[in-house]
Amino acid sequence: MKKINRAKFLLIAVLGVALLLANGNVLLTSRVTTAQGIDVAGMDKSVDPGDDFFSYANGGWLKAVQIPADRPAYGAFDVIAEKVRERTAELIKGAGKSNDPEAKKIGDYYDAFMNEDAIEKKGLTPIKAELDEIAALADKTALARLLGSQLRADVDPLNATNFYTDRLFGVWVSPDLNNPAHNVPYLLQGGLGLPDRDNYLSTEKNDVGLQAKYRDHIVTILKLAQIAGAEAKAARIYDLEKMIATAHATRTDSADVQKANNPWPTKDFANKAPGLDWTTFFKAAGLSGQPTIIVWHPGAVTGISALAANQPLDVWKDYLTFRAIDRASGLLPRPFAAERFRFYSTTLNGIPQQSERWKRGVNNTSAALGDAVGKLYVKQYFPPDAKAKIQAMVKNIVAAFGKRIDNLTWMTPATKAKAKAKLGTLYVGVGYPEHWRDYSGLKILRDDPLGNAQRSDLFDYQWTLSKLGKPPDKTEWWLTPQTVNALNLPIQNGLNFPAAILNPPFFDPNADPVENYGSIGAVIGHEISHSFDDQGSQFDAYGRLLNWWTPQDLEHFRAAANRLAAQFDAYEPLPGVHVNGKLTLSENIADVAGLSAAYDAYRSAYAGKSSSNAKGLSDDQRFFIAFAQSWRAKMRPEFLRVLLATDGHAPDQYRADTVRNLDAWYTAFNIQPGRKLYVAPDARVRVW
Ligand SMILES: [Zn+2]
Repeated sequence: MKKINRAKFLLIAVLGVALLLANGNVLLTSRVTTAQGIDVAGMDKSVDPGDDFFSYANGGWLKAVQIPADRPAYGAFDVIAEKVRERTAELIKGAGKSNDPEAKKIGDYYDAFMNEDAIEKKGLTPIKAELDEIAALADKTALARLLGSQLRADVDPLNATNFYTDRLFGVWVSPDLNNPAHNVPYLLQGGLGLPDRDNYLSTEKNDVGLQAKYRDHIVTILKLAQIAGAEAKAARIYDLEKMIATAHATRTDSADVQKANNPWPTKDFANKAPGLDWTTFFKAAGLSGQPTIIVWHPGAVTGISALAANQPLDVWKDYLTFRAIDRASGLLPRPFAAERFRFYSTTLNGIPQQSERWKRGVNNTSAALGDAVGKLYVKQYFPPDAKAKIQAMVKNIVAAFGKRIDNLTWMTPATKAKAKAKLGTLYVGVGYPEHWRDYSGLKILRDDPLGNAQRSDLFDYQWTLSKLGKPPDKTEWWLTPQTVNALNLPIQNGLNFPAAILNPPFFDPNADPVENYGSIGAVIGHEISHSFDDQGSQFDAYGRLLNWWTPQDLEHFRAAANRLAAQFDAYEPLPGVHVNGKLTLSENIADVAGLSAAYDAYRSAYAGKSSSNAKGLSDDQRFFIAFAQSWRAKMRPEFLRVLLATDGHAPDQYRADTVRNLDAWYTAFNIQPGRKLYVAPDARVRVW
């Protein structure tokens, strides 16, 4: 259910599917891109590995590297993303010269994005129709119709764990939690400009400051659009958002699938959540034919629906006007785009400088036409022998995981049998999807960048809704091949390992296999283990939300999980701000389990075959260093603060310290009691 790493930027979540406007990355050559396997020069051997394993493995690199001015953070994922983007840029530019209709769309999308002069000349014309429509809203029925028409498939609570949309609600379509034989729509909360409800409700100094700056941002956007009475309107817009935030579920509750499993008959919405004209809303959203909708956030749906009724229409019109301009601002004339960058990137995430436009163009094109670009990428950069190598590793790690289940002393035989059944039905996708998406129905114009982004979002929504009439596809992919990440899909009981993450430092076909097991092997193990963690244990072999554990198994698991949560709660990345052990628990369990399974798989497949003492380090030492180096990263404090509040993953540095739960790490580095990372043998967390 979880990706291996945070969304590259939180901003991506703030911008919708194709409207990923503000970011991109800068070229920074790191030695990890050229090294084969682990980077010995990037270590700092003056640090005691038992005190700070992250710095021992990465200290040299941390000293040598600076976070590029256009980024909130920089690490192993960014090194790969940069390389992938350069490759993708070449492919996109090449596609523009092609006569193939799909390739031409890629080229046209990119060219339109790049033509800043044309954007300047058009002014606000591209959003005029939308603003006119909002201004003409005559009553609450018309409001419901507009709100419904704005729904998009821009959230994904279980696979990509993306809970953010600036639209009032978000839609996700997936197999039914209770009956995976058919697809159903899920409805999630949305409507905020700031990333989380706590940003509005917290009285902590940093949030109070952010609240004032966000109100200023609303004023600035309205003034740029020459809207009269900007200050008064901004105050009302902010107040409405604060009321929406009050209705929102917390980030931790959002991740609790038991709280999310609320199938509501569509006809009952008017009674369960009175206020919004739901019949009109669903009709405009293309959902009125659905008998049932699973309401992920019932409190928010009820609370927001009430606001639709009890807040004045004029306030809603102001709010929608601001949202429309703000959402489009990255593709509006320079002052709008600059204000967008200033607030969402600099103020919110601490990024001082915007990345070059071509990089943003590549990101946007690659998001809007994901499979079309992915097809080109795979053809050029993912040869069949790379796929075969990864598949062999997957096979070994799945086998190691199965063996670990057999050897568990605490798990009852009945639960073990169910766990093995789940391992047996696991779909593992490597490199790229089994079927490519067809973009022939998507209109892309060379002179309409905003329209392209909007049509792409709508096309994606309609494609998503079309799944409602079809049987679920267990092999469906939820990442594009050019995405540097990996996913576990709980209802599908599947994994996605895109071609892009299968690059150094995660996977280097020229490196010693021991090191690949420490890096990509641990990622593979991480994703497999999500099928069996605190959330995965709630989904059976067929993807049903059905707990398959006995109560005593669950009790043992919870005790181990609580110890791990306490281990992470103790970390304090910023003064007074701790890691949230509960919010990051699933990911931390997956890290422990994934590293353990990868270690077993490497021992059984390669121990003794690789050259021991290569690079002056033993095999086991290189395995653990490769793991810690795959989590190398530096972060700006502003960005770190946002992640600590909203991200299901712990900061990378603490993920690297996962090693402290494995006995083999203590032996490999001779870690004795008294070292800072030392955990007594019986207190080490062994979940799987
Ligand atoms: Zn994960």
